[in-house]
Amino acid sequence: MMLVDSHCHLDRLSYGDKQVDMASVLAAAHARDIGYFLSVSVTLQQFPEMMTAIAPFTNVFASCGVHPLNQEPVVDAALLRELASNNRVVAIGETGLDYYYSPENKSTQQASFREHIRVARELGKPLIIHTRDAQVDTLRIMAEEGAEQVGGVLHCFTESLEMAQAAMAMGFYISISGIVTFRNASALQAVVRHLPLERLLVETDSPYLAPIPHRGKENEPAFVRDVAQFVADLKHVSLSELADITTRNFFDLFSLAKR
Ligand SMILES: [Zn+2]
Ligand SMILES: [Zn+2]
Repeated sequence: MMLVDSHCHLDRLSYGDKQVDMASVLAAAHARDIGYFLSVSVTLQQFPEMMTAIAPFTNVFASCGVHPLNQEPVVDAALLRELASNNRVVAIGETGLDYYYSPENKSTQQASFREHIRVARELGKPLIIHTRDAQVDTLRIMAEEGAEQVGGVLHCFTESLEMAQAAMAMGFYISISGIVTFRNASALQAVVRHLPLERLLVETDSPYLAPIPHRGKENEPAFVRDVAQFVADLKHVSLSELADITTRNFFDLFSLAKR
């Protein structure tokens, strides 16, 4: 059995405080059958440092992008294009819209999101999209900018079934994080029950959002197994079946990631 953590911020774990390093975090995940990792970029400034940190690990892939809550103030599209051309970069993002935490700069977020989709299309790399409280604008911009030409994933999904279906109709996958395990997540659990296995990915979004039973701890890629087990139970399949299909989905979507 092999799982993939399809979305983690490997460069943002507090290694110093816990006196561990990236190698031991990856080894702990490997011991729980997590074989591959996608380390997701959130700013262009920190991207080179992330690439240096993951360089020794051939089972770690990278994305390049600017998180909607990290506008710089607006993404430098030329720099994004240059950095994202790196062979190790298998996806563009995370990008998207977050009106929950940052409703005051919607137009900057939208401009940045459009630039990310354009670069993704130029480079032929799929998108990692963060979307919160911005369903209509997210789907509208995806359609207007032709996001279906490269596809991608709505990551850490917490929105409606209707939004998931609209994204899937554009060829997108839906990634489920540890939020699904939370006690107040019954609406999301109902959505997951309706999503086809063929479109699902699992992720930690570590160091944030540790799943039950690790709440209160810093999240790490090893815990994607707890997310996967929870989703498997919701879908009435075994953990190994869920691992097989989500791992296949990962490599189908991120076709530049090689096993
Ligand atoms: Zn996100
Ligand atoms: Zn993230």
